[in-house]
Amino acid sequence: MKLLEYEAKQLFTKEGISVPKGIIVSKPDEIQKDAIPEKVVVKAQVDVGGRGKAGGVLMADRETVTETAKKLLSTQIKGVPVLRVLIEERLDIQHEYYVSITMDRAKKQPVILFAETGGMDIEETARKNPDAVRSVSFNPLLPDVPGFLLRELCGNAPSDIQKTVNRLYHVFCHKDALLAEINPLVTTPAGVYAADAKLIIDDNSLARQGIAVNRDLTEREREAEKHGFSFVELGGTIGVIGNGAGLTMSTLDLIEYYGGKAADFLDVGGGADSERVMYAVRLVASVPSVKVIVVNLLGGITRCDEVARGIISAGVSVPVIVRIAGTNADEGRKLLREKGYEMLDTMDHVVKKAVEVTA
Ligand code: GDP
Ligand code: MN
Repeated sequence: MKLLEYEAKQLFTKEGISVPKGIIVSKPDEIQKDAIPEKVVVKAQVDVGGRGKAGGVLMADRETVTETAKKLLSTQIKGVPVLRVLIEERLDIQHEYYVSITMDRAKKQPVILFAETGGMDIEETARKNPDAVRSVSFNPLLPDVPGFLLRELCGNAPSDIQKTVNRLYHVFCHKDALLAEINPLVTTPAGVYAADAKLIIDDNSLARQGIAVNRDLTEREREAEKHGFSFVELGGTIGVIGNGAGLTMSTLDLIEYYGGKAADFLDVGGGADSERVMYAVRLVASVPSVKVIVVNLLGGITRCDEVARGIISAGVSVPVIVRIAGTNADEGRKLLREKGYEMLDTMDHVVKKAVEVTA
């Protein structure tokens, strides 16, 4: 789950990383001018990258802060409404660095990226001058980034920058993060500060991190979680229900291959009974963009007659095209045929048909 900048900064502070003093407001009239420093930065707290370039980071002073906050709170940044702004003392930035920590899945080790030229153009820098971004990875059992690697990584940057990188590694470990990033990490006459903060917590660790609700999930994805389905919304028009991640993924691939757009990934899991299938069909049918549902199930432990009963009892109004094969397939097909459901023999055919329907 992605944290917002101000949430990440609160966690950074606990590991000893300095962040600018600031307040979070959701209404302009919450601002008490007397408590506002002379020069500030007003920052939209939205979960999108590149806010600065999209107009989500504005400079202001004590006189204009309310007006600036009001302006940001009534706009959208890349289509996302701004519900909160962070008002921070403006740093006197001398230099901007870039640092981020993630997992290198191939090496099975944390990897730290660092650039001496950070800031809003880091993507451009990485593209044009890849050597400007240095990286190190190391054994994940180490409690600290080894000193020699910090020196190699940070080059000519001051030693306080190295300390901050190591503290960010502590955040990364303690918060079960998939990504911890500071861009820009800045030097100022008052020391080193994280001017921005990004933290993505591994969804598998939310309970351990005391996070009860995964905000990144849609309401339907949360509902699916309760039923134990693997379900992800994908925004297209063809609803997908499969069993087994492999079969479901290949159904998505085939939809893409024939030029369609999948609305979701839903794996009902092994041994699904009619009730589970019914919930799955209703859930996918409730996605507003869905025009047709492809059910692609292989009967192993799962019995195809149970699947058929589930589809029938779901009774949804969007067309459901079915391919079932394996255990009790004949019985399942018979039940569906009686109710007028469209059935095709191969996954190729069901997908082609669904793409035609939605074209
Ligand atoms: P992002 O565009 O979403 O990554 O937002 P950032 O928080 O990184 O802010 C964008 C840019 O605004 C930074 O790269 C800085 O150059 C600038 N900026 C942010 N905070 C301050 C500040 O306190 N003082 C100054 N002078 N510039 C700032
Ligand atoms: Mn940034």
